[in-house]
Order: sequence, then C-alpha cells, then structure tokens
Amino acid sequence: MGLLSEGSPLSWEETKKLADHVREHGINQFINLYHRLKDRQGDILKWGDEVEYIIVKFDDEQKVARVALKAKDLLEKLNEKELADPKNVKSLWRPEYGAYMIEGTPGKPFGGLMAHFNLVEANMRYRREEVTELLGSDECVMSITNFPRLGSPNFTYPLAQPHPEDPLSSARSLYFPDEAIFPGHPRFKTLTRNIRKRRGEKVSIKLKVFKDVKTKLPVEGAPPGEPDVVLLDAMGFGMGCCCLQLTFQACNITEARRLYDQLAPLCPIMLALTAASPIYRGYLTESDCRWNVISSSVDCRTEEERGLTPLKEQKFRIAKSRYDSIDSYLSPEAAKYNDVPLTYDEDVYKRLIEGGIDHLLAQHVAHLFIRDTVSLFSEKVHQNDEEDTDHFENIQSTNWQTMRFKPPPPNSSIGWRVEFRPCEAQISDFENAAIVCFVVLLTRVILSYQLNFLTPISKVDENMQTAQKRDACRKEKFWFRKSSKSTEQRAAQAANGTSNGNGITTNGINGTNGNATANGNGILKEENGHAKPPVMTNGTSKPMNGHGINGQASMNGSGADSDEHTDTDDEENELFQLLTINEIFNGKPNVFPGLVPLIRSYLQSMEVDTDTHCTIEQYLRFIQKRAAGELITTATWMREQVLNHPDYKQDSVVSDQINYDLLKRIQHIQEGKHIEPALLGQLNHSKTKTKDFIPPALQKQLAKNGCCEEK
Ligand code: ADP
Ligand code: MG
Ligand code: MG
Ligand code: MG
Ligand code: MG
Repeated sequence: MGLLSEGSPLSWEETKKLADHVREHGINQFINLYHRLKDRQGDILKWGDEVEYIIVKFDDEQKVARVALKAKDLLEKLNEKELADPKNVKSLWRPEYGAYMIEGTPGKPFGGLMAHFNLVEANMRYRREEVTELLGSDECVMSITNFPRLGSPNFTYPLAQPHPEDPLSSARSLYFPDEAIFPGHPRFKTLTRNIRKRRGEKVSIKLKVFKDVKTKLPVEGAPPGEPDVVLLDAMGFGMGCCCLQLTFQACNITEARRLYDQLAPLCPIMLALTAASPIYRGYLTESDCRWNVISSSVDCRTEEERGLTPLKEQKFRIAKSRYDSIDSYLSPEAAKYNDVPLTYDEDVYKRLIEGGIDHLLAQHVAHLFIRDTVSLFSEKVHQNDEEDTDHFENIQSTNWQTMRFKPPPPNSSIGWRVEFRPCEAQISDFENAAIVCFVVLLTRVILSYQLNFLTPISKVDENMQTAQKRDACRKEKFWFRKSSKSTEQRAAQAANGTSNGNGITTNGINGTNGNATANGNGILKEENGHAKPPVMTNGTSKPMNGHGINGQASMNGSGADSDEHTDTDDEENELFQLLTINEIFNGKPNVFPGLVPLIRSYLQSMEVDTDTHCTIEQYLRFIQKRAAGELITTATWMREQVLNHPDYKQDSVVSDQINYDLLKRIQHIQEGKHIEPALLGQLNHSKTKTKDFIPPALQKQLAKNGCCEEK
C-alpha cells in the first residue's frame, strides 16, 4: 500500500450496493492489465521486506507496559524525508491497522547481487533507530507479533475504553477500543465496520486457553458452553498483529506463477519456524501463531456463507475467510495438486476466459472475486477500466492470503511480483534479516535447480493448522514432498568438484560442511583488479558471473529437464511424507536433502565474497539451529518467560507485571544489552553488519547497479 490518499468512505449500505459494480469493473481491469503486461519480459530480481512494529510505552513506576497510540504523529515525522526526496530515502514508513503500529520497508528494493544480503539487517537496524530517535525514553519500537495484553484492561496509552454499546463505534468490541484503530486514514475503521456489518455480527476469534494447574474456567468472556476459550471480538486482535513479509520480482509472468506455486507449500513451514505469538488478551493459549486469529478477525462471511444456515441471499458457501492460505496453484505443472474445490461465480470465470485469460489464472481471479468490496471511497467509484486498476486492487488487496500474486502497477517500471506473507515478526533485526535472506535464497535455488515442492492444497491447508500448534517447530510433522533423484542430481552437479561428491550435505547443522565446501570456490575472484560481484539471476535470464570456477555455474534454471510429470498414482502417494521441521530444513537421508543444504549447494556454485559469505552463513546456521530445536522459537521462549516468572500463578494469566518484564527483556535483547542463548545462541547480534562492511569494490558496484534504482 502506498502513502494512503485521503478519501471519503461510503457507508456500508452504499458500498454493498456497489459490490457488483466493483466486481464487474475489477474483472475488466484485470483483463486489460493482463493483456498490457502479459508479455513483459526480462525484469531483474528485486526484492524487499516489510516489517511491522508496535510502539510500546513503559510505566517504570507501576511496572506496566501499554501500546502507545501515537502512530499517526510518528508517521507524520517519519514521512517528512520521503515527502522531501522520495527517491533517496533509506526507508519508507506506512500506517498499519493499529494506532500503535507502523510498517517499515527499505527505501528501495534490494537487487540481484549477493552482496545485497549484507544490507538487509543494517537497513532494518537503521529503521529501528530512525523510529527510536522520535520516541521518548520510556517508549520503544518493537517488532513483536502480538502485544501480549492487547485487549486487556487499560492496555493503551493514553487510556481509552471500549464502548460496545455505542452505535457509532466501528468495532463495538468489549475489549478493543476504536481509539486503538489507526485514526489517520478512514480505511481502517471503515473496514472494521463493514466487515462486521457484512457478517451480520461481530467477528468471533476463538483460542483454546493453555490449561495450567490453576487455570480458572470459564475463562473471562468465554462463549457459552466453551469454558476453555479465549474469545476475541474485534478486527484489531488480528490486524493489530505484526508480521514480516517479503516481495520479489520475477523476470516474467510465468516465473511469477511458478514462484507463487513453489513457495505456497513452504508457507506453513515458515509459519512454524517463525512462531512468535502464544499470548492473547493476557492469556497463554494453545496456539503459537497469529494466523487463525487474523483470519477470523476479518471473517466477513455471513452465516449462510459459513454454512450455518441454508443459502438464501448469498450465492455460495465459502470455505475460508478472506484472510487465509491460498486455495489454488497457478502453473500448469501444479494443476493436478489443486485438490480443493474452488468456489467461484461461473459468469465471472467465463468473462475471464472470454477475455483471454487461461483456466488457472481465471479461476484464481474468479475465486478472489467471490468477495464483496468492504471498503469503497466515493472518489474511486467511476473509473477508466482501460487504465485504472483500483477496483481490481480493491478486491485483490482485501484477499489477504499466504501468497499474493502481484501484477505490475499501472504506468510503472515494476514487473510481476510475488509476495510471501506467512512469517511472524521476530524480536531482533538479526532474526528478521535471516528469514528474509533465507527465503530470497530459496527462490534462487528453486529456479536454479527447478526444485519442486508442490503438495496438494488440502495437505498445505492441513500443514497450516499444524504449524500453529504449541511448539509445532519441535514437535509436529508436516506433509512434504519427497525430492526426486533428478533434483538431487541437479544440486549435486551444481556443487560438483567442490564438495564430497554427492554435493548435498544433510548434516551441516554446525555449518562446517557448508563452510568447508564454500571456501573452496566461494571467495570473490579479482580479475584484472576488478571485482565482479555475483549476480542472482531470475530463471530465464543469463547469469552474469561468467567466470565460474567449476564450469557448472550456469544457474539459469532453464537447462534441466522437468521431471515428476510421469509419476504413477502409487508413486504420487509416496511422494508426500510427514517430516519434522528439522528434517525439512536440515535434511533426511533418502527423502529430502534439506532446504539449507540445498542453499549451501547453490552457494558453492556462486562466487560469494567473504563478507557476504559470513553474513549468509550466520543466517543459515541460525535457521538450521532453530529448525533443529537447538534454539527455540520466539513463541516457546515467551511461554518459558511467563511460566518461570515469579508473578505467574499457574493460571495461564499474563499479568501486567509479567507483561512488563517480558517486554523489557525483549527491549534489552533487541538493543543487544541482553544475550538470550536459548533464542539467539551466544552471539551478540547488536554488532551487526553495516554498509561499511561491504568491500569498496563491491560498494562501487552496488552504487553502479543502482541498488536498486527503478528503470
Ligand atoms: P504491500 O504492502 O502492498 O505488500 P509494500 O509496498 O509495503 O507492499 O512493500 C513491498 C516490498 O516490495 C518492499 O519491501 C519494497 O521494497 C519491495 N519492492 C518494491 N519494488 C519492488 C520490485 N520492483 N520488485 C520487488 N520488490 C519490490
Ligand atoms: Mg506494505
Ligand atoms: Mg500491507
Ligand atoms: Mg503491513
Ligand atoms: Mg505486504
């Protein structure tokens, strides 16, 4: 979302009447944009993260931490630099749902150079410092997924009380006052009101309480007959959570569709790995993640659509909230894994097909368009479908799914992009950077080795639920695709000559294998005094590092044949196995080489300078350790902090005092003042890389390649 333009939101009744208008023009707009942009080729890899933050205010005397409702004021200051010089800022700041939240991204996307991995954490650090400078000494900007006492009495500063009986209230929540919704733009309150009105009642978010020996049942506010449920009744409980997202540009639409598909099965896996939100409304729960909470928090389906009453006014039963995991793949080779019935309007689908859209994309768009608009501005009602895309974006941007397939915006130099949206926000910049760099590397490996992670959608859905269970990262198993021989061979070939012969290490948990092998050829070569930084290419463009040592460095992903198309059904069934997070990341002999070993193998075939190599290795080792359970997830750590707190009464309640101490500790961790070995190992991650760490030759290249000038 760009800097939000001001506008006048229509009432729900007016918006409702225009639902078909938005749908009709949204579809036209998509058809037009598709034909304008479908042949767009040769976009280079660009990518960038989004981190959401919560502003916390500490009362050190009373030992209370609250969310500070100051995002609007803060954003006015944070946006000053951008308004003055939009092309040369290091960060961009945007509003988010909460009046206590902000979202930060790098000023420009990063690009295809390996050395860009050095910049991510430094940029995140810069952002944090930029905000910190504007805060009081008793305030702190935190990349935590959920504020543990969100919705508990007096959780805001300044204090605001909910008014559930007030007909003018947007949320009418018993717990979440309207003042905690971002006040600077009408979009957020409008969405809140319209989702509630469309649904016909307040949203209802149910979480099982974590039952400890003295947990009092029923939990305060539990629904009748469900004494062990923590009930949350407002959009803010979900949309007021923070997450970590990343977007990357593909070279063309085919590659974008492919990345969308290949990354979709990895969403639940990354959700489990990044689990960071076990506490809601002051209670420890059985869930480690925000996903189901945020999904229910914007569930605008009527009773008919949810299948509670027979269909009368509405057209369809709808299986999921508009915020949920994806329902279908987009590439032909993935079509056979679309095993969940897709709901869509036949007429809409037909119009897309007649408009020249292929079946898979048509059903994807038609499925997005089963949703009604829940936020419409009077200025935007009448549009030119040849040029504008607002009606398309209206529906697209309120389908909040694990992956988003992003068409190029009108009149821009931006190409087809894919957004990866499942990850929870981590405490430290180090962790967030590690996850971002890992996923970006994974996309390169997928394209280079033509990896195939496709898993039936029904199994991905199952994995999404598994991922949120308490301690899923260490305890649960996930459906995962067994790797084919040819995948392993491709990876092995790529790493050949530098590794132990099979190319893939399944035991590189301490990084020694990766280190040893990568050192063989991983150092940046100087030729005629010119450093050539390695470039990560997109799938169909030629790699630019023409001097690969082993002659196998052509990682353009177009050479290897596509396998797995001839599998019989029997083999199909065997293809999917239940693996632990450890096995998925670190490998399981004869089943899967492991995501990290595959990345290491890829890196061996690239020429990576020492500093970049170090940066990436730190990240990979961290991810391997967390996957192995050697380091614990943020969620598990938070649970332990609560359970071991002297004020904890074994009753699942996270008191003000516990909340305060937990958040103080988090502040000290993110500032590097406190080392938490269970979370981060022995490293003091406050001493992270800055731009100065990139060798001058590389810096020059970065500047020349225009990290990351738009074309
Ligand atoms: P949204 O909120 O719609 O998901 P944002 O604009 O907040 O998107 O963030 C998108 C991310 O994509 C940012 O990190 C940004 O740097 C990055 N980005 C910008 N342009 C491109 C591009 N051409 N290709 C890939 N990523 C890009
Ligand atoms: Mg954004
Ligand atoms: Mg957004
Ligand atoms: Mg956001
Ligand atoms: Mg986003």
